Amino acid sequence: MKDESKCLHSGYTPVNGGPRVMPIYQSTTFRYNSTQEIAEVFDDPTKNHIYSRFTNPTVDVVEKKIADLEHGVAAMCTSSGQMASLLSILNLCNSGDSFVSTSAIYGGTINLFAFTLKKLGIECIFVSVDATEAEIQKAIKPNTKAIFGETLTNPSLQIFDIEKFAKVAHANKIPLIVDNTFATPILCKPIDYGADIVVHSTSKYMDGHALQVGGVIIDSGKFDFTCGKFPEFTEPDESYHGTVYTKKYPFAPYIIKARMQLMRDFGAYPSGHSGFLLNIGVETLAVRMERYCSNAITVAKYLEKHPKIESVNYPGLKGNKYYDLAQKYLPKGQSGVMSVTIKGGKQPAIKFMDNLKMASNEVHVADIRTCVLHPASATHRQLTDEQLVACGINPGMVRFSVGLENVDDIIEDLENALKAV
Ligand SMILES: *Cc1c(COP(=O)(O)O)cnc(C)c1O
Repeated sequence: MKDESKCLHSGYTPVNGGPRVMPIYQSTTFRYNSTQEIAEVFDDPTKNHIYSRFTNPTVDVVEKKIADLEHGVAAMCTSSGQMASLLSILNLCNSGDSFVSTSAIYGGTINLFAFTLKKLGIECIFVSVDATEAEIQKAIKPNTKAIFGETLTNPSLQIFDIEKFAKVAHANKIPLIVDNTFATPILCKPIDYGADIVVHSTSKYMDGHALQVGGVIIDSGKFDFTCGKFPEFTEPDESYHGTVYTKKYPFAPYIIKARMQLMRDFGAYPSGHSGFLLNIGVETLAVRMERYCSNAITVAKYLEKHPKIESVNYPGLKGNKYYDLAQKYLPKGQSGVMSVTIKGGKQPAIKFMDNLKMASNEVHVADIRTCVLHPASATHRQLTDEQLVACGINPGMVRFSVGLENVDDIIEDLENALKAV
């Protein structure tokens, strides 16, 4: 199936006379006829459901659908995008380990990597998204267990050269993790370019409607965890009656270990109702992405010519530093998000935002409705000026997330707000 069809049909096939739509399994637990049957599910938890702290039939449907869309073999939903990023690292790194990440990533991920993981004894070594292969290689130490990057960075809209980073990761026998939130599997499938693990904040385009926070981790099934660097995958797991993940689950050891160890212990799993809502969002993802992208390029071209605008950062515009990489990795479109710098810096930027009528000023992005945010005074306010520059943020920059309204209305709103500046 093509993506549009997968969005609608992957993950769930109704039985004869069964409900057309996957029902909400709003139940903490699942009943079995005998102790023996429960014991069997414990022996192989991939066979059936035990407890909704780590699996649920409704969530399972959307996990299978997203894995299919990303060209992965299995997926696990999480209660937030932050939790997806956290577990993606904790599944590989223990205290005393390190990993490499580009510095052009979401502000919340920077906090998690630079501060919170540090307290757990895990070091994040930051490199530039534009680093050469030699520079990436230089950052890797014997205890480095992964490389992390964001396909299309929030909010600086730089493009992560997946193949370049995958090459260095694989030469060092470590997996590449890609946060594909902004691109979504409709615009880019990182696994096709060598990513081993993909993570998402589903709170953005996947949910689409700004209904709920969520995340997901996808396993490509391609990374060879028997390479010698990952004993937790190849030696018996004491906490799971001696399971050896690469032996028992050679098709997806990464995601099964993440579920059976980390999700079992941390319990950051969405409810059946959450899985149901996420599925509704994903059903229309392919058609929505097409419209976000076509509205965005129209708006970007309009703003680029406006006399009160200093610059528009949208990788679909010719002349953008990442235009060529965008054509390679995101040929169908570069999402609905752009950053716009108003002439004059911070004050005019705030004035412009406060004069928008339809676009709402909110701490969100990739909403179905057009929304706008000032990163320097919101999501990134904890960062120093140097850190702001390192992740590509100018104090006068406004993040503009184009929604699905008629593009003429979006432009009229912009026109009026810019008149007030
Ligand atoms: C929002 C976001 C996150 C964090 O996700 P939450 O669902 O808000 O926890 C991670 N990565 C990217 C790229 C994001 O945009």
